[in-house]
Amino acid sequence: MLAKYPIEDSVSNAPHFIGTTNFNLRRPNYIILHHTAQNSCDQTLTTFTTTKSKVSAHYVICKDGTVHHMLNDYLRAWQAGVSKWGSATDINSISIGIEIDNNGFEPFTDPQITSLLQLLGRLKKEYNIPAANFIGHADIAPGRKVDPNRYFPWQKLAENGFGLWYDTTGIQLPTDFDAVQALRVIGYDVKKPEAAVFSFKLHFVQNDSTSVINDDDKKILFDLERKYQ
Ligand SMILES: [Zn+2]
Repeated sequence: MLAKYPIEDSVSNAPHFIGTTNFNLRRPNYIILHHTAQNSCDQTLTTFTTTKSKVSAHYVICKDGTVHHMLNDYLRAWQAGVSKWGSATDINSISIGIEIDNNGFEPFTDPQITSLLQLLGRLKKEYNIPAANFIGHADIAPGRKVDPNRYFPWQKLAENGFGLWYDTTGIQLPTDFDAVQALRVIGYDVKKPEAAVFSFKLHFVQNDSTSVINDDDKKILFDLERKYQ
């Protein structure tokens, strides 16, 4: 049907439509990880199936490790909201959203992380998603979102090929090192630099909840800047 005539789009009145049969749906190229900030998996499943909530995700992982698939991977869930990573501003159109049942202030369970790693392995292989493109909601919405919380095991994920991590061994910082520039190169929206620093720390320096950059942080940023660019 799509090959025969254009469904309504930005130029639906174009007079010279000639349908091609050579197409398929676009593939997701990013994974966005979230905590639900709700009190139970049941509550989240209800929220995501209620029309008026206007929010959803492709997957929800409960505390016992159960994975609920809620939307086909090729379709656009409403999970990222207003967000930015690098020059990408419509993250919902290019990503899969995974919500992990967690009230926002507690550690994630071992069964959740085990299930998550299995799911990420399948998605990474199926869609050939680069390791750098496994990121958190707070990474793409600094100042607006704080999920997943600082208990989230980003280092463990990176060790399994989902996300990148740093090694500051032997690093000598250049005298003109610019931390905000490094955050920007990694992908952060630095319009509000303090918010970007907070999101960066939530992901990479989880024992520090300040928005202050010290020399150790600069070394981490220096290494990550090289890995993400
Ligand atoms: Zn979120």
